Amino acid sequence: MSEVISIANQKGGVGKTTTAVNLAASLAQKDKKVLLIDIDPQSNATTSLGFTRGDYEFNVYHVLIGSKKFSEVILKTEIKKLHIVPSNIGLVGIEKEFYSPKKKNRELILKEKIKEIADRYDYIIIDSPPALGPITINALSASDSVIIPIQCEFFALEGLAQLLNTVSLLKKTINPKLKIKGFLPTMYSNQNNLSKQVLADLTHHFKDKLFHISKSKECIVIPRNVKIAESPSFGKPISEYAASSKGSVAYSELANVIIRN
Ligand code: ADP
Ligand code: MG
Repeated sequence: MSEVISIANQKGGVGKTTTAVNLAASLAQKDKKVLLIDIDPQSNATTSLGFTRGDYEFNVYHVLIGSKKFSEVILKTEIKKLHIVPSNIGLVGIEKEFYSPKKKNRELILKEKIKEIADRYDYIIIDSPPALGPITINALSASDSVIIPIQCEFFALEGLAQLLNTVSLLKKTINPKLKIKGFLPTMYSNQNNLSKQVLADLTHHFKDKLFHISKSKECIVIPRNVKIAESPSFGKPISEYAASSKGSVAYSELANVIIRN
């Protein structure tokens, strides 16, 4: 069975998509079979891996409404062992369906659909939208764990309580196995005092929930790195675009920790 990991934070621009794409690619490059599910209508993960609209006819929306199976919409990527379920702006339409009063167990639709393909992958990584709406609830309900990227900027921890409450509510109700895999500080700059302050706050509140390469070493932080920001426009993960960059090394280390656990 695969391990299902959501990347979630209802704030936009904190590094969810970047983390989903680069963690998925790093895991695949370490010989794991990986499926990246793009479940954000903005479809940035799909675009980041070089797919444009004309490359695929069906997407995650069709799976969720039941007109296609996952196996019919999965695309192979340029990275061996990495497959993707693309998204599309049409996915916004799913919210209406999810809210339909007639729909039973609407939080569990994605989880049900994933069963079809779960034994084909070692990891399924889900990139979720910047909202705590029904799409993200479906992602969290289908997951074993969640990684929460935290941008090392002002207001970094704002809204976090709401996300943590949602996780604990889901844990108490429909998904008892859901764990917080960890908080991932992103866009960290060691020349910026604010970055240091956010990291200090995170360490203070959630020390055990940061990712550590080994007990003795400092926690993994994703540096602010221009190569990371450039790579999506080349349709490549950072490991292909600039393998020796600091950003690439950080995501590779994160993948190692995920595999080790
Ligand atoms: P989200 O999915 O949470 O909205 P993204 O992953 O799309 O966030 O990141 C927001 C923007 O910041 C994107 O333009 C992305 O390329 C850029 N970005 C993300 N992580 C980094 C980083 N470590 N260094 C530099 N730019 C980054
Ligand atoms: Mg995103």
